[in-house]
Amino acid sequence: MKEEERKELVDHLEKRGIKDSKVLSAILKVERHLFVPPPMVHLAYNDNALPIGKGQTISQPYTVAYMTEALQIQKGDKVLEIGTGSGYQAAILHAMGCKVYTIERDIDLYHKTVKLFEKLGLRIAARFGDGTIGWEEFDPFDKIIVTAGAPEVPQKLLKQLKVGGRLVIPVGDRKLQSLRMIDKIDDDDYRINERPNFAFVPLIGKEGWNNG
Ligand code: SAM
Repeated sequence: MKEEERKELVDHLEKRGIKDSKVLSAILKVERHLFVPPPMVHLAYNDNALPIGKGQTISQPYTVAYMTEALQIQKGDKVLEIGTGSGYQAAILHAMGCKVYTIERDIDLYHKTVKLFEKLGLRIAARFGDGTIGWEEFDPFDKIIVTAGAPEVPQKLLKQLKVGGRLVIPVGDRKLQSLRMIDKIDDDDYRINERPNFAFVPLIGKEGWNNG
């Protein structure tokens, strides 16, 4: 039954323009209903963001698919995600064969999601803290994805990106952002593409918004 719903979601995402078969296969495989709170399970395969507690959301499947496609994932990529939230985006990257590192600033969400990763047997490295300063211990990363909206691109994340790597990050005001796809051509040389009209919760931290 749930697999049927996932298949319908994948068909819908294809109609909306998602083409990367690796992304579509991961969405078919990863059980989104395990990443949403129990009262939301019946809504898990609708193309909507859903509340996960602490004022945060699991992103809309289309947004997850679009951002993951934009990352141009190659199997074995080392990927840093900022904003673990429910863990769904991290699980999608894991299903695509990435080595995933993820950071969450909310302690309750962090504990809850780490427990879920353990329960599902997902080998994902998770850390509690401010993701705007990245995870220096494991840099450089092939790809970095930020799943909360930033006022500016955190410089630490650009620094921790490999030359030849790509950072995908929503940048704008607290309510509306453009998604920036930033290719690191060389140290201090970047190529930037942008797509408008995304709405993420704010990225709070040293190189993000103030809390409040
Ligand atoms: N990727 C998530 C998923 O698959 O469910 C979406 C999470 S939600 C849209 C954004 C998350 O970013 C929230 O859980 C929020 O607490 C977190 N966040 C905000 N600022 C952060 C920061 N500086 N470092 C780490 N996490 C942050």
